[in-house]
Amino acid sequence: MADTNGAGSLRPLAEARRVVVKLGTALLSGAVDQLDLPTMEDLVRQVVALRERGIEVVVVTSGAVAAGRQALEERDATIADLDDPAERTPLLRQVLAAIGQSRLMRVYERFFGARGVVIAQALLTRGDVDDDERRRNTQNTFEELLGLGVVPIVNENDVVANEELEGVIIGDNDTLSAVVARIIGADLLIILGEVAGLYSADPNVHPDVELIPEVLDLESLAAEVSGPLSPTARGGMTTKISAARAATAVGTSVIIADGHLPDVLSRLLAGEPLGTWFAATEKSTEALG
Ligand code: GLU
Repeated sequence: MADTNGAGSLRPLAEARRVVVKLGTALLSGAVDQLDLPTMEDLVRQVVALRERGIEVVVVTSGAVAAGRQALEERDATIADLDDPAERTPLLRQVLAAIGQSRLMRVYERFFGARGVVIAQALLTRGDVDDDERRRNTQNTFEELLGLGVVPIVNENDVVANEELEGVIIGDNDTLSAVVARIIGADLLIILGEVAGLYSADPNVHPDVELIPEVLDLESLAAEVSGPLSPTARGGMTTKISAARAATAVGTSVIIADGHLPDVLSRLLAGEPLGTWFAATEKSTEALG
């Protein structure tokens, strides 16, 4: 951990040329299961601005489950069971994701299309990338898409990946984003959500706790944040930290930041010390072969 105030920041991000931006459910849908269109449009605007600077961007997006629930509620306002978290079985979440994925993509199509940017959809499961041939196929497809100036929009293939949807709320697009970063050899993974970054204790319980601006040694950090905190207090940080571990080990720096900060993407790439930055422990490597 180091500098908190910009001058002398250790974040060497100005050189980043290939970036994965992960957008979490809470950011895209707020407290209610409704896609937050103004937020989505602004994030799309920011991604397009990076592209215009020659930076290749892959977006890993959540929000399919929220969009599916919204679609059913619009058709039938009495779908009360869907409001009951106990009813949110893995199967129901798979169903909602199947319904919502096309709606989610329609929103991205509209906002990117209005800026003249072509997008692609890629639905992946972990099994796809554990298998050498599938991983190479995936990598080749991403390379071609990026070469064509297309922005790939990735989500977990929730219909077949039900183990990824078990648990209370957190799916695993954090892990998926680290896998995608590795496949394409990204310099940087930016995980945007509603939290400002990583704290050493739960800020809801300890209002004075400070954001950890930079993490140079994930191993010592893991002990620090997992010690006194309950799983609930850590919120969605567990999967984010393990995603950071996976990505930094193969040369991808990681930032966890609040996606609602104005112009967060360009400010992060300018080295502004927002959120929590995890230094890559390896020099950037080539994409997996
Ligand atoms: N894939 C899920 C969705 O699109 C979310 C998974 C996650 O947030 O990690 O709704």
